[in-house]
Amino acid sequence: MPVDAIDRPRSLVTGGAGFLGSHLCDRLLAQGHEVICVDNYYTGNKRNLHQVLDNPNFEAIRHDVTFPIYLETDRIFNLACPASPPKYQNDPIQTTKTSVHGAINMLGLAKRLGIPILQASTSEVYGDPAVHPQTEDYWGHVNPIGPRSCYDEGKRCAETLFFDYHRQLSLEIKVARIFNTYGPRMDANDGRVVSNFVVQALQKRPLTIFGDGSQTRSFCFVDDLVDGLIRLMNSPPEVTGPINLGNPSEFTMLELAELVIELTGTDSSIEFRELPVDDPMRRRPDITRAKEDLEWEPKVALREGLSQTINYFDDLLSDD
Ligand code: NAD
Ligand code: UDP
Repeated sequence: MPVDAIDRPRSLVTGGAGFLGSHLCDRLLAQGHEVICVDNYYTGNKRNLHQVLDNPNFEAIRHDVTFPIYLETDRIFNLACPASPPKYQNDPIQTTKTSVHGAINMLGLAKRLGIPILQASTSEVYGDPAVHPQTEDYWGHVNPIGPRSCYDEGKRCAETLFFDYHRQLSLEIKVARIFNTYGPRMDANDGRVVSNFVVQALQKRPLTIFGDGSQTRSFCFVDDLVDGLIRLMNSPPEVTGPINLGNPSEFTMLELAELVIELTGTDSSIEFRELPVDDPMRRRPDITRAKEDLEWEPKVALREGLSQTINYFDDLLSDD
């Protein structure tokens, strides 16, 4: 439905130049919102925003969320944080700062303005889970001092801050625990498994499986995920989360590699490499809460989403 300029809601999207954030900006603009994107371009890219840069309802600000920012908005989607293990481990101190100081700064902004704020949390708060599938009341199994801890514990601390701002200051919060999401605009060099396999297959290089490939993940297509984030933001104030957002169809990394090989028609081989430290063995969301509270469930099957992702990378690599 078209929105009159005077009534146009304004959303701040931190991390808006990243993979998920740029799709979220697109969707909010399409719904007639004004969008301010705040990003320091650590893992994001202006290319992800080229389709909205001329939109008068869009504004991009280069800013690091570990420093305070003063602006006016009606709601905040806090997505700023590298999500790929090699990228967040590259500067682990900055990763923790981004999650924790970033949360404090954005919560402070939400408090001053009296507006709702959504946190992009993660299935990594469950660590290498002892409960399967993961429900929101599971407290997790996380190493506090390992190479993934900067991300896992940073996100856990951010959740703590969100719930304390809610309890102590009555701030309206929304915490989404996002499971592995993939799709167009992932960075080709980002290091996550879907982009790695697709790029390797298209370049006819071996697909690199870490470990024996029996570890599992459940992959959600980006369009479904963005729909879930917007539903969560639009939900009644008593819906705070945490709420799992992800696709419950579970695959081993070997199955994923075989599907990518089939869909790309590549003659790439599979190469086994060492499993990274603390790599979770199983991951699948229980999405009962999202179904009940948001009437949300993913619609795009892995085969279909992968085909769209392969087309995106095919175009990208042939442009280079
Ligand atoms: P991404 O790396 O593509 O995007 C993150 C964005 O945040 C980038 O544009 C980056 O430049 C920006 N950023 C990083 N540090 C910043 C800082 N200090 N100040 C300002 N901007 C900063 O990752 P993504 O996949 O789009 O993930 C977005 C959010 O969703 C992250 O918070 C991530 O933890 C969460 N998440 C993603 C997934 C997934 O599978 N994609 C899963 C769980 C959680
Ligand atoms: N992985 C892999 N090959 C790669 C990249 C990742 O086998 O080239 C594995 C990784 O060890 C993990 C899974 O794929 O078990 C998902 O990794 P990703 O980095 O995408 O996300 P994670 O869920 O670990 O944060």
